[in-house]
Amino acid sequence: MSTNMNFDIVIIGAGPAGMAFACMLADSGLSIVIVEKQSLQQVAEPAVDGRDIAMTHQSLDILSRLGIWQRFGEENISPIREARVVDGDSPYSLNFDTSGDADEALGFLVANHRIRKAVYEQTIEHSHIKLLTDTEVTHVSTDVQKGYVTLANGDMIESSLVIAADTRFSASRRIMGISADMLDFGRSAIVCEMQHELPHNNVAFECFHYGRTLAILPMPGNISSAVITVPNQMAERISAMDKTEFSADIENRLQHQLGKMKLVTKRFTYPLVAVHAKRFYSQRFALIGDAAVGMHPVTAHGYNLGLSGAEILSSEIINAINKQKDFGSDAVLQAYNFKHQQTTLPMFHGTNSVVGLFTNDSFPATLARKAVLRLSNNLPPIKWAIKRKLMDKHPLPMLPVPPVLGKLPGLKTLFG
Ligand SMILES: Cc1cc2nc3c(=O)[nH]c(=O)nc-3n(C[C@H](O)[C@H](O)[C@H](O)COP(=O)(O)OP(=O)(O)OC[C@H]3O[C@@H](n4cnc5c(N)ncnc54)[C@H](O)[C@@H]3O)c2cc1C
Repeated sequence: MSTNMNFDIVIIGAGPAGMAFACMLADSGLSIVIVEKQSLQQVAEPAVDGRDIAMTHQSLDILSRLGIWQRFGEENISPIREARVVDGDSPYSLNFDTSGDADEALGFLVANHRIRKAVYEQTIEHSHIKLLTDTEVTHVSTDVQKGYVTLANGDMIESSLVIAADTRFSASRRIMGISADMLDFGRSAIVCEMQHELPHNNVAFECFHYGRTLAILPMPGNISSAVITVPNQMAERISAMDKTEFSADIENRLQHQLGKMKLVTKRFTYPLVAVHAKRFYSQRFALIGDAAVGMHPVTAHGYNLGLSGAEILSSEIINAINKQKDFGSDAVLQAYNFKHQQTTLPMFHGTNSVVGLFTNDSFPATLARKAVLRLSNNLPPIKWAIKRKLMDKHPLPMLPVPPVLGKLPGLKTLFG
């Protein structure tokens, strides 16, 4: 016999966005249930998935306030002190560092499985948050008063608000009739960790080679995370390459800047599909995390946007509760939608333009990207603005985009 349960909020998906959002509401007095199709073991002890996540100062601040950052352990956090962007085989690079800044890092890298584990461990500390694992959501509907979430075993959960944090391919987003812009790049990201002979000195490299891109991100010790993006038809061959041959290839592409390199993990492949929902809410229903915006990883915004969006929505909910208003009303969800879309839309389209520019090997595009790197390097206000954007340091006075630069697609993202 099926049962009915009642909660104030149901969250679909116990990923890093869904659980962090629940933690943000832990002291609100609301009863919250998170429904996750994976097993408790998979959520509590997340497997290594090859992703190393670059986080901004804003994410550090949010996760610290939630008590999650402290759970990573200093030894597992790697600051990025300098970033170098290289085009093709040219020795010229666009450089960002922290000189002249009070901050000691442009951003911070933490392995995704550690983030997931820390968020889980913080979530289960809160008595108002219940986690239902091994439970798949199969249907969602809402009316003026309530949301109804149907589970695979036939049980139903009623609540005042349903939150979807169920991946960029969110089934509940589709069920609720919210359309999304989806861009399949026809490319895949292969991610892995490499050990190297020379210290990385906390420098990150973004190399736009012809036909593929390579990001090398400094992890604790003499280890760097490698993110290689290639057309889908090449991905299988590169993942299956002999380890020694693969390591030598990365070493060559990095022009031996880290000395001898060695593959030390499995290679994980992710298809590159970017998604932006047209709106982030419907009646008593809201999208957060990748279900709202799933970014191309090149500008490392995905989880950072997931956290900032969750913070906007949880603040709107808490404001409504403080004013004794309906926290699941359209007014609350509209405010979230308006604020978050203002940030995500320019980033989404800007990032996709950067990807387009830096993976297009036509002569005009290669000229344009060389121009972008040189202009950005040589105009201090532009460089400063890009750096602030990368670090997500607010408030950022919005610089007007000079008309010539505005035509270079890559710069749009950086000026927001
Ligand atoms: C290669 C790569 C590199 C990246 N690098 C960065 C980076 O440097 N910086 C950055 O900020 N971001 C980065 N990201 C993005 C980041 O990983 C994601 O934004 C983040 O993991 C999204 O979290 P989420 O909780 O929204 O979704 P997910 O992690 O996808 O979790 C969704 C959860 O929902 C569950 N679920 C789905 N459907 C159902 C259902 N019907 N019923 C119950 N449960 C369900 C799933 O099992 C899953 O646990 C990267 C991504 C990739 C692929």
